[in-house]
Amino acid sequence: MSTSDAVYAYSAVLMGSPIQLKLFDHNEALARDVFRLIKHQENLLTVNRTPSEVMNINLAAGQHPVQVNPRVFELIRCAKAVSLLPGSIFNFTIGPVVKCWKIGFQGNSVPPESELSACLTRCDPHDVIIDESTHSVFLAKEGMEIDLGAIAKGYIADCVQGFLRQQGVTRGLINLGGNVQTLGEPADQQGWAIGLKKPFAATDALIGVITVVNKSVVTSGVYERYFQVNDQIYHHILDAKTGYPLNNELLSVTIISDRSIDGDIYTTLLYGMGVEKGIAYLAEHADIEAIFVTRDQRVICSSQRHFNFELLDHHYQLSCFTGNNA
Ligand code: ADP
Ligand code: MG
Repeated sequence: MSTSDAVYAYSAVLMGSPIQLKLFDHNEALARDVFRLIKHQENLLTVNRTPSEVMNINLAAGQHPVQVNPRVFELIRCAKAVSLLPGSIFNFTIGPVVKCWKIGFQGNSVPPESELSACLTRCDPHDVIIDESTHSVFLAKEGMEIDLGAIAKGYIADCVQGFLRQQGVTRGLINLGGNVQTLGEPADQQGWAIGLKKPFAATDALIGVITVVNKSVVTSGVYERYFQVNDQIYHHILDAKTGYPLNNELLSVTIISDRSIDGDIYTTLLYGMGVEKGIAYLAEHADIEAIFVTRDQRVICSSQRHFNFELLDHHYQLSCFTGNNA
């Protein structure tokens, strides 16, 4: 193998997640710039500490609009639009409920029902007033909090991809804690091999391998962040109608798309839809593909136009829809 074919992997922990960058040139300065870019975006978008642009909005809830940087504004506008889609489980005003559960932040007990129902009165995306002309955002009710946790990593992965392209990089991969975006294809292989994790198993246990070229691969799973009380698992994908984790037949949804922001949005949306509605939805959206993993150990691919899937764990049953039978 020539040196130009060697993969160089750089890692860091940012946004509470392991971050990995793969390049085909040894370029520490570029890796540092990428991690700096991620850190910068995290500082704009975080809701876990001040100051951040999103925290400024949340702290001014019920009081006054806050002007934000145009790209943050655009992201918030997108999150609002997705939250207002008919039947959408996605709700970016779910912040009070997320904070109440503290899942992923040492949360280990079920909050009292009265606390959750009090939170729900502050989770209406219609109450986010956005002003295009000034790039300002106003949360109309006191105590409202927006949370971009279900969209931010995808957005940042796309920022990294754009930055790498700008720097003349044609082949590479960024993995933001399970949110993968790729450029081109590796030199010595027919695409990027990305593991599909086995739910509730060792971190390196895989159900199979997804291979893509120039695509984003995002997985959202109930096993990513959760706690357990008796036999019950409480995970981090919450239902803003009930205040509780949303449970259905699914353990994870993976989206293969061009933009990672779409992957991030659609993992949540399709998790909310479940397999049957999700497959029907995807039949109308050819640019986005999904892999569903169910509690009863089925792996269901919406189609395989833009990726290849190899099943490794034969305890799972693989099925694939095509344009004809979806
Ligand atoms: P991750 O990649 O960290 O697993 P996801 O993309 O699955 O994240 O989004 C989960 C995060 O989104 C939660 O940690 C929370 O911050 C936020 N969230 C939880 N429920 C919802 C919801 N119904 N709509 C929008 N955001 C949500
Ligand atoms: Mg998401």
